[in-house]
Amino acid sequence: MFFVDSHCHLNLKKFSQVAGTSSVDYSVDAILDRARSADVKYVLNIGTELADLDEMRSISESHDNVFHTIGIHPLEAQRHLQQYSLNDISNILNGNCNSEKLVGIGEIGLDYHYTRESEQEQKKIFELQMDIAQKHSFPVVIHSRDVANDTLDIIGNYSDVKGVMHCFGGDRDFAFRALDLGFYISFSGDITFPKNIATRQEIVKIIPPDRLLVETDAPFLTPVPFRGKVNEPAFVVHTAKKISELLEMTEEKIAAITSKNFFDLFSPRCDTWTH
Ligand SMILES: [Zn+2]
Repeated sequence: MFFVDSHCHLNLKKFSQVAGTSSVDYSVDAILDRARSADVKYVLNIGTELADLDEMRSISESHDNVFHTIGIHPLEAQRHLQQYSLNDISNILNGNCNSEKLVGIGEIGLDYHYTRESEQEQKKIFELQMDIAQKHSFPVVIHSRDVANDTLDIIGNYSDVKGVMHCFGGDRDFAFRALDLGFYISFSGDITFPKNIATRQEIVKIIPPDRLLVETDAPFLTPVPFRGKVNEPAFVVHTAKKISELLEMTEEKIAAITSKNFFDLFSPRCDTWTH
């Protein structure tokens, strides 16, 4: 039995932001050692900005069990457009699409949770990255918060691009519409939070098992029973455990299903992937 963490951020900047002066070793090697000991065999390291491109690639090159995506997070859209032209962004991302261990574009999407002020910039950057995914036949990792309709409208314009709704927090309608578009639905550690009993814990029951993924979104969203600690890929087991209880399936079954789904979605891009 093994698990796959389909969404985490291994880069130093994010871990040091969250871990601060913790005495735990949060080097990539230490994080991956703990993941391996917890039967988390593969992890997908997710990009959020252009500045992390080199680090993403080098982590993948030096660790067999790590693959990565590249992309600009919606909350980074405005900052990138102040710094680069759309054309520059397109050239930089396209120029990085040849990495052997690159398996997708993400995380990309829309986020109106804090403000809608950057709505236009977010849409431009999102569409640009959907174009890139389409051009290179990559799946996409979608971040969508408080904005189901606009996200689904844009994705609906790219019928040949498949992907995953990461850290799903939407309602039934959003879930069904995303499934209709051929998307997978991924749950993170927040499905274990007691406040999400009526939302995520109910929604997971309507997702067909062959569209289900698990993730940590580490270093964020630490699952119960580790609230207060820094999240890391080893903890994806607790998200899977919660889902196994909710779906009344064994953990082995959830591990097998979610790992297979992960390979179905991402591994066509990567022939070095052995499982
Ligand atoms: Zn993320």
